[in-house]
Amino acid sequence: MTYHLATYGCQMNFSDSERIAAVLEKHLGFQPAPENKAAILIFNLCSVRQSAVNRVWGNFKKTRGKRQPLIIFTGCILPPDREKIRRKNCLVLNIKDLPHWPEIIRKTLKHKNIKTLKQGSKGTMKQLGNEATQYSNNQKSAIKDYLSIAPRHSSNFTAYVPIMTGCNNFCSYCAVPYTRGREYSRPPAEIINEVSALIKKGYKEIILLGQNVNSYHGRSSSFPSSLRRGGPINIGPGWCNFPSLLKLLDQIPGHFWLTFLTSHPKDLSPELINCFQTCEHLIPYLHLALQSGSNKILKSMNRHYTAEHFIDLIKKVRAANPNVCLSTDIIVGFPSETQKDFLSTAAIMKKIKFDMAYLAEYSPRPGTTAARLKDNISPAEKTNRKNTLNEILKTTALANNKKLLGQTLETLVVSQDKQNIFGRTKNFKNVKIITTSNKQQTINNKKLIGQFVNVKITAVTAWNLEGKLIK
Ligand code: SF4
Repeated sequence: MTYHLATYGCQMNFSDSERIAAVLEKHLGFQPAPENKAAILIFNLCSVRQSAVNRVWGNFKKTRGKRQPLIIFTGCILPPDREKIRRKNCLVLNIKDLPHWPEIIRKTLKHKNIKTLKQGSKGTMKQLGNEATQYSNNQKSAIKDYLSIAPRHSSNFTAYVPIMTGCNNFCSYCAVPYTRGREYSRPPAEIINEVSALIKKGYKEIILLGQNVNSYHGRSSSFPSSLRRGGPINIGPGWCNFPSLLKLLDQIPGHFWLTFLTSHPKDLSPELINCFQTCEHLIPYLHLALQSGSNKILKSMNRHYTAEHFIDLIKKVRAANPNVCLSTDIIVGFPSETQKDFLSTAAIMKKIKFDMAYLAEYSPRPGTTAARLKDNISPAEKTNRKNTLNEILKTTALANNKKLLGQTLETLVVSQDKQNIFGRTKNFKNVKIITTSNKQQTINNKKLIGQFVNVKITAVTAWNLEGKLIK
């Protein structure tokens, strides 16, 4: 049996897909196949933005065509979208039920086999969908079980390691607390063991994941004894916060990079900021979502910080480590965002000088608090505002990159084409590494993928670096 898995959205969804692939291949013996040939299609969805949902629906219609594969939807799906999907006679499975997917899929295939489905076995699909939701009753143990499934990593040098999932923050525009549920943090011992095993296997880059990664708060009765003894780590009785987890992971021997995505400003504690100075493996990169520079809009977004507090946090991060590169998320055109509010966002962007910003035009997500507010900024004005911020970003990113000219940066090689190799520098920037184009060099380049090299930066644009390999 063959499957095709399409993933949308954030790294958390990509990480979930690595677990889905492991379950399908190890427990069901399925093989990956192209979309137009696979017997089972799985869409791992993202409902954070309407545009992502629309893209999936467009793709879905195209994919389905005249074929009748079994189609499964999972990921962050809001209730109205779930209903829409079920009406199309597709299975909606909760990611938390992943340990039970083999059972559900086997049952579905047995009931329907593809022919039955063709004739439209809505009753069966609905029944199976309902059965699937029954597995979710014990939320905590379901999440624990799904996160402890060993993933089929898609890279042999970069590993995503989810340490928590869900969110308690209820930002007024966001669907995540409704689709992923409340926060759950994995036990620290489980994370430490997973990361230690990855480093032993030769992984070079560990990306810790969570919807709100820095609110991590895991409980454990035991820590691996090698890490517990004698370390200057302050852990309460059984509880481990995010900075403590970073310090524990930092003690794992080996040459590797550690980073995390994505953080909420309200949980960026002084202890965590200090990690940028003291943790040897933590790379100088921080993604911290600003969302708006207007306190009125931040309040309406239910973000629990002010623009002044955000600026102060960045000052402290830069004092701890001046090399930290910063990226952020910003939403333009939130309900009632005036020109003055928008100019506050533009001003803070100029002041902080981000290296990267993921800019989004606001779109309401059904069921969220903000969806009840009037979406009163026109699409054209939202685009104008986004373009203005993009120009500011271009200027600051270019100025930041120019400072790297002539510097030699440790770089992880991630891919190659016929002539060059491409990497990610220690501060999370993309770099094209120029090498000579001959057959032998191409073979040598291939050997460098997944390795650390030193690169001298010779040219920059706002979005990319270029450099030479230093022997
Ligand atoms: S912190 Fe806010 S934006 Fe991030 S996942 Fe939670 S509710 Fe959504």
